[in-house]
Amino acid sequence: MADKRDYYEVMGVPKNATDAEIKKAYRKLAKKYHPDLNPGDKAAEASFKEVNEAYEVLSDKDKRARYDQFGHAGVDPNFGGGAGGGSPFTGDIDLGDIFNSFFGGGFGGGGFGGRTVNPNAPRRGSDTETTVNISFEEAAKGCKQTITFQNIDTCDHCGGSGAEKGTTAKTCPNCSGTGQVRINQRTPFGVVQTSRSCDRCGGKGKVIDTPCPTCGGTGRVRKPKTIEINIPAGIDNEQILNVGGQGNAGTNGGPAGDLRVYVNVRPHPIFERRGNDVWCEVPITFTQAALGAEVVVPTIDGRVSYQVREGTQPGDVFKLKGKGIPRISGHGRGDQYVRMTIEVPKNLSQRQKTLLQDFDNVAEDKNYQKRKSFFDKIKDMFGE
Ligand SMILES: [Zn+2]
Ligand SMILES: [Zn+2]
Repeated sequence: MADKRDYYEVMGVPKNATDAEIKKAYRKLAKKYHPDLNPGDKAAEASFKEVNEAYEVLSDKDKRARYDQFGHAGVDPNFGGGAGGGSPFTGDIDLGDIFNSFFGGGFGGGGFGGRTVNPNAPRRGSDTETTVNISFEEAAKGCKQTITFQNIDTCDHCGGSGAEKGTTAKTCPNCSGTGQVRINQRTPFGVVQTSRSCDRCGGKGKVIDTPCPTCGGTGRVRKPKTIEINIPAGIDNEQILNVGGQGNAGTNGGPAGDLRVYVNVRPHPIFERRGNDVWCEVPITFTQAALGAEVVVPTIDGRVSYQVREGTQPGDVFKLKGKGIPRISGHGRGDQYVRMTIEVPKNLSQRQKTLLQDFDNVAEDKNYQKRKSFFDKIKDMFGE
């Protein structure tokens, strides 16, 4: 394992090769080393295997990305799946389109499965997805959620065998349990013995006389599944949680796929999230703004009081450090920003109007500096 060759080197292509270049290189090498064209040549067989393995990774967008990032460890289960929980290396490869394209179909055998994947090989289940809706506060503080989703799971009735209770699958009479039938075929290279997947049993080597009535013989059923998941503090709207091993069941003893949970965070009536910061608006009276006052400000931790300074203007923003959303990495929190809005009083009584008028009668330019500078500019503009 340690002296495994680099896949790009095996294929003889540069690291930035296109899919078409990789496919072309594969065709050339597969043709060169194919066991049917090199009978008894162990070195060719080993090369063929190496080329197939490299191609399986480099022809798959996800696997290639993992290989580019982590090397062999990213795509080989013997490394413990440490890199991004990668899917196991199954050795499955669909050679159909490639061999069909230069042998006119029907090419295969040589002990490598040829055109089709071995139907008895363990295969990882596919990934499934679901959506979870949580509140702004749940996203900020983290929460547990019970979710129910549709999943393909092992059939309980037959335990996954596909055969009715009390019966078992029996050896396929057509292929004697090998799953393969041999055919002699004329090709441009002479007569080649080809083995092909058995039609009767689909290559499994076993047939079921009395299929399980629950799953119809597939051994798998679609059913709802309920699990509890932990949503970390700091998760944001539209982020995706990957829950390992909760996807569709694998086949032939392969592991289950993953469940991808799309997180929807409901908007909050007061708070708005920007990254890890929280923004909100707090209305104050024009008297509070003019004289200064202690006001109550909501935060995700509860209420705090804040001393608004004398002469606060509409749109002034103050910051409450560390009162924002926890970072999902677990290190620190964002801040909260509070924007002041100033409410002009309406529905005034006669007495209130008189008081305000009295105030205005004694107001001076220094009380309204912005206004004064504005009118000074207008005077300048018109040369007054
Ligand atoms: Zn069943
Ligand atoms: Zn068969």
